[in-house]
Amino acid sequence: MSQSTTTPFRCWAEIDLAALERNLKSIRAALPEHIKYIAVVKAEAYGHGMQQTVARLMQANVDMFAVANVLEAAKIREIGTGWPIIVLGATLENEESYLFEYDLIPTISTIEEVERLNRKARSHEKPLKAHIKIDTGMGRLGIWHEYATELFDAFHKATFLTLGGVYTHFASASRDPEFTRRQRQLFTETIAKVDWLETEKLLIHADNSAGISTFAPDSVYNAVRIGLLQFGIAPYPLSILGEVDTTPIFEFKSRVGIVKQLPAGATISYGRSRTLQRDSRVAIVCAGYGDGVPLKLSDRGDVLISGERCPILGQVTMDQTIVDVTDIEGVVKSGDQVTLIGPQGEGGIRLQEFSEWAETIPWEILCSVTKRVPRIYRTAIITG
Ligand SMILES: *Cc1c(COP(=O)(O)O)cnc(C)c1O
Repeated sequence: MSQSTTTPFRCWAEIDLAALERNLKSIRAALPEHIKYIAVVKAEAYGHGMQQTVARLMQANVDMFAVANVLEAAKIREIGTGWPIIVLGATLENEESYLFEYDLIPTISTIEEVERLNRKARSHEKPLKAHIKIDTGMGRLGIWHEYATELFDAFHKATFLTLGGVYTHFASASRDPEFTRRQRQLFTETIAKVDWLETEKLLIHADNSAGISTFAPDSVYNAVRIGLLQFGIAPYPLSILGEVDTTPIFEFKSRVGIVKQLPAGATISYGRSRTLQRDSRVAIVCAGYGDGVPLKLSDRGDVLISGERCPILGQVTMDQTIVDVTDIEGVVKSGDQVTLIGPQGEGGIRLQEFSEWAETIPWEILCSVTKRVPRIYRTAIITG
């Protein structure tokens, strides 16, 4: 029996670590063999839970981890040693000591950072390996490509810094292949201008999940940085990447609290956000925005009960959501399992569909499932 049927959880996430490993293998298989795999596990591994996700990715032999900040990186170090960890965010001055204590690779975008980190490395009497980031159209971290030469020069002169890699980030890889190609071109040109770079000794990377749909095997890249796709969510129509066969590893579940009858004309939820047009049977589901059910799903979207779609009625509340079960053929009763995201019976609700109801992106939904929601890890199919 699974934990989720024996422990009294009323809203939980089920995470299939075996599927995570299969996804990873599938992504790797679609790329040339020499390409290093940098697993992006920022924000608690996209809400899946850092501890379990990272441990499994370590077993599955990823080459490197990427996180947003030094605290996330320190957490990885506590799980296992031996993997290089790159910090994708800027390193603040009061975070610098972590780089040395935990052996982390910072991202450098400015000359100020070169000077600051070089000073720090000198004071630690320890060379610091860093990656330089180039801005080719994201407008976020990285040195704007036209100004990169100056940064590379400053880096070259910094005696306590060593270069471990150079990278850029795509702004529109899932939507605009033309713009992505332009970014690739600017990146390659920028690197080519730096005569002291020995690119074969560096990690040269750009591709996020959507990026690899336009990956060119003969290009300058020797690493990819994958987040969403390893969790089985393709940020673009799968057809573009036909050979990468991934399955979602995340399911969002709850239970029916009570089932009750309401007459036509009854008002539903805060603000009387719905008035019933017919005599109805409703189920009160034990999950709300306090668990990560977006308020945007109010009076919109479905949940699955008994494998059938039940429309959400009225405003989602903090702990509970009201759904219409009038048209469900079977008997719906207290304790029944409710699927918010994932398969159930013949049906299923995909994260992408759920995100559209919420007018947001899959990344944000995964990050919005709150701490209150226990993550249950499994490697085999659970029924019930
Ligand atoms: C989050 C992130 C990624 C991973 O992006 P996905 O689209 O989730 O694969 C890669 N690179 C950087 C710099 C990121 O911030």
